[in-house]
Amino acid sequence: MKYYSTNNNTPKVGLGEAVVKALAADRGLFMPERIGKMPKAFFSNIGEMSLPEISFAVAYMLFGEDVDSDALKQIVTETLSFDIPLVKVAENRYSLELFHGPTLAFKDVGARFMARLLGYFNAKASEERMVNVLVATSGDTGGAVANGFLGVHGVRVFVLYPSGKVSDIQEAQFTTLGNNITAIEVDGTFDDCQALVKKAFADAELNKRMMLTSANSINVARFLPQMYYYFYAYAQLARMGENLDDVVVSVPSGNFGNLTAGLIAKAMGLPIKRFIAANNRNDVVYKYLQTGKFEPKPSVATIANAMDVGNPSNFARILDLYHNDWEAIKADITGYTYTDEQIAATLAEVYREEGYLLDPHGAVAYRSLVEGLQPDEVGVMLETAHPAKFKSVVDEIIGDDIVIPDRLLDFMHNAKRSVKMSPAFGAFKKYLLTQA
Ligand SMILES: *Cc1c(COP(=O)(O)O)cnc(C)c1O
Repeated sequence: MKYYSTNNNTPKVGLGEAVVKALAADRGLFMPERIGKMPKAFFSNIGEMSLPEISFAVAYMLFGEDVDSDALKQIVTETLSFDIPLVKVAENRYSLELFHGPTLAFKDVGARFMARLLGYFNAKASEERMVNVLVATSGDTGGAVANGFLGVHGVRVFVLYPSGKVSDIQEAQFTTLGNNITAIEVDGTFDDCQALVKKAFADAELNKRMMLTSANSINVARFLPQMYYYFYAYAQLARMGENLDDVVVSVPSGNFGNLTAGLIAKAMGLPIKRFIAANNRNDVVYKYLQTGKFEPKPSVATIANAMDVGNPSNFARILDLYHNDWEAIKADITGYTYTDEQIAATLAEVYREEGYLLDPHGAVAYRSLVEGLQPDEVGVMLETAHPAKFKSVVDEIIGDDIVIPDRLLDFMHNAKRSVKMSPAFGAFKKYLLTQA
């Protein structure tokens, strides 16, 4: 299958090229040219299927032409080696816990899938090659990407992070791995890191000397696998005998990769009635839904910081999917936006009254279910991170000392290694060229 650019100004490419390039030549985002519908029989059986079975069926529909079926099955099975439980929090309200992967972040699934797919295309390439993944992180993405790509042949990962501005646990998740993972400790802010990565992608000389790609959700191999969540949530509701006619999914959103994956799942026939785009104070999509105007602006810092995005990159995909039809978008997506105080109050209240501990991102999604769900609807919120990943914030809100899972602490036992870097592009470019 071919992938076209949302800017429609460059030839379509195959999946292998879309994954290695991340961004189209006209700077647009790649979209699959056909979105096939899952057969009726699939939905009548879905309650009896396992997570890898459902995910393989969905992956086959999208990637089946481009990846050998046995290899695809292996990629999907290895990616989803952990469960994604659907937990009932209150009447008609469920939490889909996406945080049971290796770094306890929902980005683990996309990162692992993309890494394995890239490994597959590397093995099929006519000559030995080295793909360099550049990723800027404010904390969470770096760990998921580094762990997803660890040990994959023909791929090197450079994680750029702001020195002193990520938590010790987050830092340990990408600075202690070694092997094909290099941590670049930038003497600056997250924006400096992101600027370095963007300049590198735009630099003609670098791109001539080495293959550079992004593992951000602009990459089709990172964002599309997130569709599995939505199908699996539906399957678990089916198994529980829930009302399947009015399912609403609330998605805590930043760059909108996760929500876009849900919209594509719906386009593939998954009967989700509507979606909620749950935002912190970074509300440009909320404003778009209210006014029809999309006006990106600088991000503001919040306690749900993985959603602090002022110009969500995947919004271009949503516009493309709905042919810029504001009414059609509004029919499928309702927006909510909350302040830090509201997020904290929700987290505390749900913990006190339901005995369920949300993380700040999940709290944004949960609150919009509380406020937005109609009486006949069944709501599923996506819980995107384990609360312990935001321990200091969560501890303060609930006045307790939550336990950090062993899996996170294990990272702390190994020695940290990083390459110190100034935020000037010249220095970064020179360093990359020594790696070419
Ligand atoms: C990345 C992230 C989000 C936002 O996901 P998008 O696909 O960028 O909208 C939400 N919550 C957490 C914990 C994240 O790490």
